[in-house]
Amino acid sequence: MESAKDRLQKRANELQHEARKSLGQNFLVSDHVINKILEATQACLAEVEKKSLIEIGPGLGAITDLLLKLETHYQAIELDYNLFSYWKNQNVSIIHADALQADWSDIDAELLVSNLPYQISSSIVIEKSVYPYTLKFMVLMFQKEVAQRIRAACKTENYGMLSVVSQEFWAIETVCDAGPRDFSPPPKVASRVLKFSRKESAIKNRKKYLQFVKSCFQQRRRILKSNLPSVHAEQVTQWLVGEKLSEKARAEELTPDQFKKLYFHLNPSENT
Ligand code: SAM
Repeated sequence: MESAKDRLQKRANELQHEARKSLGQNFLVSDHVINKILEATQACLAEVEKKSLIEIGPGLGAITDLLLKLETHYQAIELDYNLFSYWKNQNVSIIHADALQADWSDIDAELLVSNLPYQISSSIVIEKSVYPYTLKFMVLMFQKEVAQRIRAACKTENYGMLSVVSQEFWAIETVCDAGPRDFSPPPKVASRVLKFSRKESAIKNRKKYLQFVKSCFQQRRRILKSNLPSVHAEQVTQWLVGEKLSEKARAEELTPDQFKKLYFHLNPSENT
């Protein structure tokens, strides 16, 4: 079979396409990394009923060519009009839109796969965590630093809002790493693929929960209590004492489970 690098070159020539930096166009050329993404995708598909999949940014098709060979209901979102037109002309079900602005309520997909443009990767994870659409799995490529933040443990430097929210709603595994030379053009940074499996969560109002976690980390160096509305100060103190945490604890000292407990403590109607 033709290598990913040859496929990319051929298609780029055919479409006279030059990579657009502003759209994060670092195209995958590593057969090894593409196969790892495909294996993780197949493992997810084995666990879903409708086999419906959406890809953000098919680009020149590094992953798409292989996904289209699977028995799935494939859809894509692509912001680059040139690339969108190419796939549309191939009769692929594709929307020309910004994945962050598109109306996902009409998208009935169980699995999201993407070599994400780095500039939207954190926002996509937060959004797909909080909005309870149909997604049950995600296989996503990130800048390694972002992948580390997503999986970071509490009390570490990388731990923050992205870690807490991701870990509340997903079980997360590392699929593989990728270096600059696995892409064309090569980015300056290392990358990592993560697999997300949806977890049950008792949180009902996810928007409100997200706002709460955001406020807790608003000013990282401030103590937790000072980042929350002063009317809650007494309740927060009681809760911290009950959890055997210092009254001066910072947000980074709470595990994702403790964030949920504190959220329920402050919003009892959410926990009924
Ligand atoms: N999937 C291809 C691959 O692995 O080689 C391309 C990946 S490239 C890192 C990111 C792709 O996402 C590009 O095709 C780019 O045009 C597209 N893209 C960038 N920003 C986007 C956005 N906001 N919404 C949808 N697609 C976007």
